[in-house]
Amino acid sequence: MVDDSILLKLENIKTYFFLPKGLFKTIVLKAVDGVSLEMRKGESLAIVGESGSGKTTLGRTAIKLIEPTEGKIVFDGKDITRLNDEKEMRNFRRSAQIIFQDPFMSLNPYMTIREILEEPLIVHGFSDPKERYEIIVKALVDVKLQPPEEFLLKYPHMLSGGQRQRVGIARAMVLEPKFIVADEPVSMIDASSRAEILYLFKSLQEKYNLTFMYITHDIATAKYFSDNLAVMYLGKIVEYGPSREVIMNPKHPYTSALISAVPDPDPNNRFIYRKVISGEIPSAVNPPSGCRFHTRCPYRFELCDREEPKLEKINFEHKVACHLYTKK
Ligand code: SF4
Repeated sequence: MVDDSILLKLENIKTYFFLPKGLFKTIVLKAVDGVSLEMRKGESLAIVGESGSGKTTLGRTAIKLIEPTEGKIVFDGKDITRLNDEKEMRNFRRSAQIIFQDPFMSLNPYMTIREILEEPLIVHGFSDPKERYEIIVKALVDVKLQPPEEFLLKYPHMLSGGQRQRVGIARAMVLEPKFIVADEPVSMIDASSRAEILYLFKSLQEKYNLTFMYITHDIATAKYFSDNLAVMYLGKIVEYGPSREVIMNPKHPYTSALISAVPDPDPNNRFIYRKVISGEIPSAVNPPSGCRFHTRCPYRFELCDREEPKLEKINFEHKVACHLYTKK
């Protein structure tokens, strides 16, 4: 029976890139290597990890900007893994939008804000200019670019970084999507605007019951802006659960190290022991055997480099992939 509270279901998604090496060889970069997850309608899920963890590739695969190599994507009860029908693909594109990391690079510098917001509406067949104008004005009000008339004829370079990112959000919102992937949406804007943009996401998500995938390397913000949190390491989810539970009670050594690296504003905590992880994330071309984190893990033991731990439930919704918890 189809559970209609679920909007997105990823089943054993693998996204590999086949890169040429020399004249006759190909190397395989396993950016995402067997990820399964579900997102309920109206849920926000943070995907957290270092550069090279596969989080951006996972987000782009979820909205089919990149085709998965293997696995199944079910959206709103429909298998969309291989969509050949143009109308169905267009419907999906309308329902699933992305907000990119760099608001300057993602906005065409030669188009006015009105043209930028009007483009997706024209592509999706909104033929009435008056209707398009009303939708654009409503989107600008929603993202708090007010009065909207003041922004319509401006170009991206005339706006601040925070305002440009609001335009990026408005562009994603004009088509009334059900699902939004926000890929590091505040990492390229001023610290002073970051909290405002994140609160804007939160309010839009609640107002329109959006399902929201928030991709970030910043585990601290994930606690405040997501219901659930998935920690990725080298193409796999190593810990998953309600954000507060994962952050207050992390189980995987990698999650603990990420949390430990967050600066603590409390001066009394200055001397707290910090768990530093040594070394760089290994290459996804040739990931370590067994547990992929074993080359950097201070708790590794004999089993870790020969057997891969599975993501298993340890309580309620909290899951971890680590032999410390799952091997009796
Ligand atoms: Fe560390 Fe072993 Fe757990 Fe991997 S499985 S995180 S190496 S203790």
